Amino acid sequence: MIRKVVILGSTGSVGANTLDVIRQHPEKFEVVGLACGQSVDAFVQQIREFKPQFVSVGSAAVRDLLKTQLGSEWADKIFVGVDGHADLVSQTKPDVVMGSMSGTYGLVACLRAIEENVAVLGLANKEVLVMAGPFVSRALKKSRTKLIPVDSEHSAIFQGLMGNSVRDVKHIILTASGGPFRLRDRSSFSSITKAEALKHPNWSMGSKITVDSATMMNKGLEYIEALRLFDVREDQVQIIIHPESIVHSLVEFVDGSIMAQLGLSDMRIPIALALAYPERIPLNLNRSLRLAELGKLHFEDPDFEKFECLKLAIESVKIGDHGPVVLNAANEIAVARFLNDELSFVEIPQVVESALRHFDSSRCETLEEVLSLDSDVKHWSMAWKPGRQRLSTTL
Ligand code: MG
Repeated sequence: MIRKVVILGSTGSVGANTLDVIRQHPEKFEVVGLACGQSVDAFVQQIREFKPQFVSVGSAAVRDLLKTQLGSEWADKIFVGVDGHADLVSQTKPDVVMGSMSGTYGLVACLRAIEENVAVLGLANKEVLVMAGPFVSRALKKSRTKLIPVDSEHSAIFQGLMGNSVRDVKHIILTASGGPFRLRDRSSFSSITKAEALKHPNWSMGSKITVDSATMMNKGLEYIEALRLFDVREDQVQIIIHPESIVHSLVEFVDGSIMAQLGLSDMRIPIALALAYPERIPLNLNRSLRLAELGKLHFEDPDFEKFECLKLAIESVKIGDHGPVVLNAANEIAVARFLNDELSFVEIPQVVESALRHFDSSRCETLEEVLSLDSDVKHWSMAWKPGRQRLSTTL
């Protein structure tokens, strides 16, 4: 049976890779809906190639642009905004939703997918779990939807757990490449340029996540994501640096056995697993992993003093449910301002740390409170000015 697929965030890196997997298996998948923020040109090409029934975009202005390019027959087939992305899911009744829209834009649509009992929600957008993990967990308990992580590390853990019980897990070991500054001396971090931060050694990704990898905030967000996905305690999740990004993560069981998942650094592997779950489908990746050619794989402990964002992410969980919400929102703005040449690389953790202090007593008991805190922290972080006193004590 052909699986009907909706992709939230089709013009991003995961979205485009999802379409490539579908392109390799037209007998298995049909694209029924695509959503994007504002990349009209790439979106028009995708719509012409995959012919979805409906689409959605970030704003009315983008909808109007799209209409002029696609013609009048599309007038009633374009949804708009955060709720529009959710309506796209309801309208197209897909079997699989790929949640790969960056930031908080895809959250409502992912929750709608769970409410609508779509068979599989592939989740590449870690912000959904970091911000709204408890709400997603509650919604999943009432739903038939199977959530399959698409982040490479969490897909590895998911695969390590296949046929095993989470009760028998001793540790989840998240691997991290260490990013481009693993070997760089901390004393020269203040001179890191945008071009240097945007050069990831192993993965080709969007600019936000590439900067997050350079600060190691990405691993911090993935630590939180792992806690939410696999229902393990904080002390059960470990982080290890593995510069080659070949072992995508590991699960250690109580009997001392460790399951690792290995593969090329290619997002199409975890994407295909989510699209076809529980089957595996052949993928043409143009190359294969040859361990003998690699010869060696390296592992080392992370430097939490050098990568403050990683430490802040782990601390944020201890603060309470609002901690990760504040961390994520402040980081999103700090990275945007770094990419806009407004802040330096070392100021990214400073914004996050100040925000965690400023919003220390926030409440996050309802989704409305989460969204309003997210928006408050973002506004505050936009106005944050460098040069305030450095807070040196730990949180
Ligand atoms: Mg990852």
